[in-house]
Amino acid sequence: MISREMREQVENSSLIRAMFEEGRRLAEIHGAENVFDFSLGNPNVEPPVEVKQAILEILHVENSSAIHGYMNNSGYEEVRSAIAESINGRFGTAFTQNNIVMTVGAAGGLNVLFKTLLNPKDEVIVFAPFFGEYRSYVRNYAGELVVVSPNTVDFQPNLEECQEKITPRTKAVLINSPNNPTGVVYSEETILRLAKILNAKQKEFGSDIYLISDEPYRELAYDQVEVPYLTKYYANTIVGYSFSKSLSLPGERIGYLVIPDEVEDYENIISAANIATRILGFVNAPSLFQRVVAKCLDAKVDLQAYNKNRELLYGGLLSYGYQCIKPQGAFYLFVKSPIDDDVKFCSLAKQKNILIVPGKSFGCPGYVRIAYCVAYQTIERALPGFKALMEDAD
Ligand code: PLP
Repeated sequence: MISREMREQVENSSLIRAMFEEGRRLAEIHGAENVFDFSLGNPNVEPPVEVKQAILEILHVENSSAIHGYMNNSGYEEVRSAIAESINGRFGTAFTQNNIVMTVGAAGGLNVLFKTLLNPKDEVIVFAPFFGEYRSYVRNYAGELVVVSPNTVDFQPNLEECQEKITPRTKAVLINSPNNPTGVVYSEETILRLAKILNAKQKEFGSDIYLISDEPYRELAYDQVEVPYLTKYYANTIVGYSFSKSLSLPGERIGYLVIPDEVEDYENIISAANIATRILGFVNAPSLFQRVVAKCLDAKVDLQAYNKNRELLYGGLLSYGYQCIKPQGAFYLFVKSPIDDDVKFCSLAKQKNILIVPGKSFGCPGYVRIAYCVAYQTIERALPGFKALMEDAD
């Protein structure tokens, strides 16, 4: 018999699985080109050429047992140094290899961090709408997720409610900007206000509240928008980064944590993160791809391709009467469902071979997420369906 907890997880996962199966079923009936799958955040833009060049160069030039061997659980020193220097060059920080822990993507990094920080019943605050997997990551370590309700005016975090929800048990506030599912970039003003609240609450409760910045979409930002680097605003900040979207490498499972010297209990957190990496069964982040990303720190995916998709889909949906914030980052639109029931709207969309995800999955019912990391033609061909759905709803 599987555990009670996993039974619940299996039931939840089967909903996502059902959507995937449904996509395949529809493709068999109507042809793959007539099914418009906007459900997954799987980058369609190719990795930059530098990635392939780096792989080939590493395989040709370097000693193969060194490439594929074990290393320090935190990752190769030279890779962590290269990453620290790159961050310092971009954001004016002063990190060294001792502030970087290589991780198995952003998901691996968050799990390492929660293993490191959470005692049972410790609270982690998130702002709706949020990436649904956070629920499981916090639960994995018997923590409790505390959800701040959405600010549907502009999808900046609702800081008044956050302030009210911080308690002596609050161990961390987890934010994600550019955001999945809204694409919103949290402004500098938001970050300054949040830092002020957290500093005041730390003082009030005599506790440490870590600000965790989950940043897999940092490089996917449009219109020259500035994405603030959070360690500069609040001392107890830990950054989780991933190359899944920035270099289109989600299957390679590579990312890193930045744990600044200023973070309270820095030495122990670094040691614990190192050990957590080992005992969670990762042992270390993938060795070849640590070396690959170190050679590709200035490489970029073709952001213009996502930007073209964003303009086409956003412009099209608005012209049909949909309501949506124009996102400044990531590759998602978070659109108000034309009918109150977002789950029902997703079923209606499916009847037009359009696969989208209900806002309920992100803690924000009444909205739907459309992932536009798809071919431009997919959007062109899906737009009449979106138009008809709006007409049907009227
Ligand atoms: N955090 C957010 C907000 C995400 O959207 C995702 C993936 O879509 C992840 C974390 C996990 O990313 P990774 O593939 O790097 O583990």
